[in-house]
Amino acid sequence: MNERLFRQAMGKFATGVTVVATKVGGKVHGMTANAFMSVSLNPTLVVVSIAEKAQMLEYMKKSKQFSVNILSAEQKELSMIFAGQLKENREVSFDQLGGVPVLPGAIAQVVCEVTAAHVEGDHTLFIGKVKELQVNEHRGDPLIYYSGQYRSLAE
Ligand code: FAD
Ligand code: NAD
Repeated sequence: MNERLFRQAMGKFATGVTVVATKVGGKVHGMTANAFMSVSLNPTLVVVSIAEKAQMLEYMKKSKQFSVNILSAEQKELSMIFAGQLKENREVSFDQLGGVPVLPGAIAQVVCEVTAAHVEGDHTLFIGKVKELQVNEHRGDPLIYYSGQYRSLAE
């Protein structure tokens, strides 16, 4: 399979953008991710997919808990920071929800406990049981990712 064509095709699936965050040894680590999906309503389960080369993989295995922070259109810069697309080191402050770091200003914050981890190819799928939720409607529209570009919703 041609890798470029695969990425081009997958990029046609417009998504929101999240920052997955966790804490190990008192240190918070965040990573931009669009491979996020709601899995089950009863029980409430979600999945995130983390690349084998990502630092985040070891942190998630250790902490066994994480948050998924759904970014607003105003948080493009945060997405770039947590994807390593902005090179300068920035201090980013996190809030806590159920003892897990969450990103202030996100339109939804989903706190999970890892209930399973499935290695598939070069990624690990982490199933998270939702423990805490916060929805911040007033934060406005979501940040969108499409064809490798950040977008916003059109009216
Ligand atoms: P690093 O590269 O070490 O960390 C990422 C960046 O976050 C670094 O610049 C670091 O300085 C910064 N950072 C981390 N914690 C903090 C903190 N507490 N305060 C301030 N800065 C901090 N990869 C996947 O595996 N799955 C996906 O679903 C996925 N989706 C993506 C979607 C988009 C739109 C983009 C742009 C990228 C996506 N990636 C995804 C790629 C992934 O975001 C990058 O490869 C990322 O750099 C991997 O992070 P890392 O865990 O290896 O850690
Ligand atoms: P891109 O144009 O190559 O990505 C388009 C789409 O292809 C992505 O939205 C995703 O669905 C898929 N994709 C890209 N890289 C992948 C990977 N390593 N594993 C599985 N699916 C992947 O690249 P971009 O959107 O400009 O992203 C910038 C960087 O972020 C690249 O280094 C890319 O690899 C990485 N990224 C990784 C994932 C992931 O691991 N699931 C998802 C999005 C972006």
